Amino acid sequence: MQYRKLGKTGLEISAVSLGTLRIPSAAEGGPHGVRERSDAIRAAIDRGVNYLNLGYPSYFKDPGAACEYVRAALGGGYRDKVMLALNIPSAGITSSDDLERSLRTQLELFGLESVDFCIIDKVSRFPWQKLKDAGLDKWADSVLERGLAKMMGLSFHDDAYYLEEINKYYPRWSLLEMEYSFLDHKHHPGMGGFKFTEQYGLGVVATDVLKGGRLLKNIPGTVLAVWEQAPQKRPPEEWAIRWTLSHQDVSSALFEFEDPAQAGRYIDIAETATPGCADVFENVRASKARDAYYAARAVQCTSCRCCMPCPFDVDVPRIVELYNDAVMFSDDTIPRFLYNLEGHPKTPCRSCGLCEKSCPKRLPLMDVLEKAAQRFASGELR
Ligand code: SF4
Ligand code: SF4
Repeated sequence: MQYRKLGKTGLEISAVSLGTLRIPSAAEGGPHGVRERSDAIRAAIDRGVNYLNLGYPSYFKDPGAACEYVRAALGGGYRDKVMLALNIPSAGITSSDDLERSLRTQLELFGLESVDFCIIDKVSRFPWQKLKDAGLDKWADSVLERGLAKMMGLSFHDDAYYLEEINKYYPRWSLLEMEYSFLDHKHHPGMGGFKFTEQYGLGVVATDVLKGGRLLKNIPGTVLAVWEQAPQKRPPEEWAIRWTLSHQDVSSALFEFEDPAQAGRYIDIAETATPGCADVFENVRASKARDAYYAARAVQCTSCRCCMPCPFDVDVPRIVELYNDAVMFSDDTIPRFLYNLEGHPKTPCRSCGLCEKSCPKRLPLMDVLEKAAQRFASGELR
């Protein structure tokens, strides 16, 4: 296993890390019951994985059952071989009591007294004011003082410059999880975020390297052609993993795997995906694949955000992004889940037309918002 420095923490993290809560059960086509799924986690740890993100079990109908195999995997001394990250969703937080309740609930669900990282999940400009009003800074310090977590982290999904404000408010972050695939090179926060993570000494864990597996399914013919025309023959996951881990600012790439064999393949690929491994030709090929994906989107939004703010609190660029993802990947599952999780149905478009007038690309936004609402309607969180 390749290990990399984790920001200013003094720790070394495995180049491949794991999100543990999505290993499918037998009913979902995965490796069977509690025993098999906990063995799958242990197999990854035995291969050198030393960072586990525990996910958020409360999204499941039966949170206790959902994390049973994770609890089992962490027994037998395995807890001491890994760093554990627990997530506090930023949505719906209005007080420090909410933060505390979420932390306590999850520690109990996973049978833990403490974790290595307490991560505030899905931080963006929207929940940020509420998090500050809830007293996040004082609560975070009390978590560290009480030893419930050794370090604080955040998962971040917004423009890079918001990191400056977030760090100014609370400068004791140690780790940042961010989406970083060859499709996310420019935004949320994209490579622009590295200027800040380096300045603040944050270790970066890249998530969504394979876009939740969507880079491996329903691949447009134009993208396949880009990969197949390369002199080196590699499967799509290898191009994607190499691109992300080639960036020296990335400490680790986090995956949610479907079976132990898949985890083993990603770990094998990561062995040679060292910083700078992708030369100029490889980066040009990734750019061509990105262009081919983007051409398959419904509308060519640049995420410039000129259409904001909406007087009725519709997050237009985000909904356009989710709709584009559904069309580009021919798969509604993840966008529908996120659309409902992020609460977009609560702020429907009132068709005032302001956003369309502000969009420099004159995109038919009201039509896209309507289509997204219909397409993602009645999405269950789990
Ligand atoms: S058209 Fe809809 S989304 Fe656009 S500004 Fe008006 S209410 Fe907001
Ligand atoms: S103004 Fe248009 S291009 Fe810019 S983010 Fe909004 S929809 Fe996208």
